[in-house]
Amino acid sequence: MSAPARVATPPTAAIIDGRALARNMRCDIRARVVDFVSRHGVVPGLAVILVGDDPASAIYVGNKIKACEQVGIHSRTIRCDQGVTTADLLALVETLNRDPAIHGILIQLPLPAHIDMPAVLDAIDVNKDVDGFHLYNIGGLIVGSTVFSPCTPYGVLKLLEHANIPIEGQNVVVVGASNIVGKPTALMLMARDATVSICHAKTRDLAQFTILADILVVAAGVPRLIVPQMVKQGAVVIDVGINRLPDGTIIGDVDFDGVARKASHITPVPGGVGPMTVTMLLSNTVDAAARFIV
Ligand code: NAD
Repeated sequence: MSAPARVATPPTAAIIDGRALARNMRCDIRARVVDFVSRHGVVPGLAVILVGDDPASAIYVGNKIKACEQVGIHSRTIRCDQGVTTADLLALVETLNRDPAIHGILIQLPLPAHIDMPAVLDAIDVNKDVDGFHLYNIGGLIVGSTVFSPCTPYGVLKLLEHANIPIEGQNVVVVGASNIVGKPTALMLMARDATVSICHAKTRDLAQFTILADILVVAAGVPRLIVPQMVKQGAVVIDVGINRLPDGTIIGDVDFDGVARKASHITPVPGGVGPMTVTMLLSNTVDAAARFIV
């Protein structure tokens, strides 16, 4: 008698649809912009500084500019040569700080190695720091007094809220400890009274941490780093990773098909955290414009 055919277990996790949430939020932001312009006669403005000709950075900037157009935010892209100096960038930031048509300033990262990145980021007026990378905003995450929260962690929080995931008292594991994603995400979830562990490339036996997570946020930049055996049954899994395979396919850090059979909720890549990052930038920019109205 031949063995019965194996039937693949269907995914059981609810998909947290970042694309749909971003679409809804952008409708609300657009309405806010229309209202803001009619009340104050001022169009919220975002300046984006793009250094060099890295194709990925150019795509990210293009997406941000397109998103601004969709919601009625005025945007200006300033392109600088790869050889631009720190002094040039500081002068540019200073000019934008004083420009009344610009309410938000974003410097697309990474910057070339010869640039003093912290100096340039810290030169941005805190009230225009819509990416949330100024030292004041980073430090403010510790005490809960940021002017603007960094966009990707803010987007992660919005996704969890939208899916009605309780955060208080939950075991959260963040895989990835970068200054722009992992650490601020951990701090923002701690501020919501989660019990947070942060793992990174030097963590020994990653699985012994991830298996305890009620909420697992993965931002390592390693394709399929998280496999089902590393995930607790019923966990909420947020995949921040964006990895381009040699065939051009974009995948996250989580083995989606496998983990979706174990998790209660999961974000897809693409269509999860990515669209939320840009949406939170738009939201921060409108908030920034509102701060300039007295
Ligand atoms: P990064 O390279 O600055 O940091 C990666 C972190 O992951 C480091 O702390 C490193 O120690 C850790 N790490 C690396 N390999 C690991 C491993 N095997 N086990 C455990 N930890 C490991 O990257 P980043 O800027 O924080 O970005 C992380 C990922 O998120 C990337 O794929 C990036 O493209 C993506 N990203 C997505 C968005 C979005 O909007 N969806 C925004 C920013 C970054």
